[in-house]
Amino acid sequence: MASVGSMLGTKALQIFDETTCVVRAVRRWTQFYAHESCGKCTPCREGTYWLSQIYERLETGRGTEEDIAKLLDISDIIFGKSFCALGDGAASPIISSIKHFRTEYEAHLEGSCPFDPYASMLAAPEGVGA
Ligand code: SF4
Repeated sequence: MASVGSMLGTKALQIFDETTCVVRAVRRWTQFYAHESCGKCTPCREGTYWLSQIYERLETGRGTEEDIAKLLDISDIIFGKSFCALGDGAASPIISSIKHFRTEYEAHLEGSCPFDPYASMLAAPEGVGA
């Protein structure tokens, strides 16, 4: 995995199709890491908090081009400079998603999320659709 620039992390595998918003998926992971950060080291403690704030802006149509650069800057500060693997785990999906799906990030700058969140669910929540 390391030879292709990836990691197994918690060894949980998630597979998405093209209906899934990459920004939304990475935002959920980032919220998880921000919640789970124990706060021992500054890059992880502060970085995961601010990453979460930026993703909230992007998803609600208040993001800017600078926010994408800030995500990369903060991730670079966290990656390899945190005490445990949680820091690398938090930064890695952000770096790789911007590298491979930058157009999806940029699409969020033209308004709110262009994806229908219900299209990527196996079943719509009760009261939605039908
Ligand atoms: S990298 Fe690990 S030790 Fe450091 S604050 Fe995050 S969870 Fe705690």
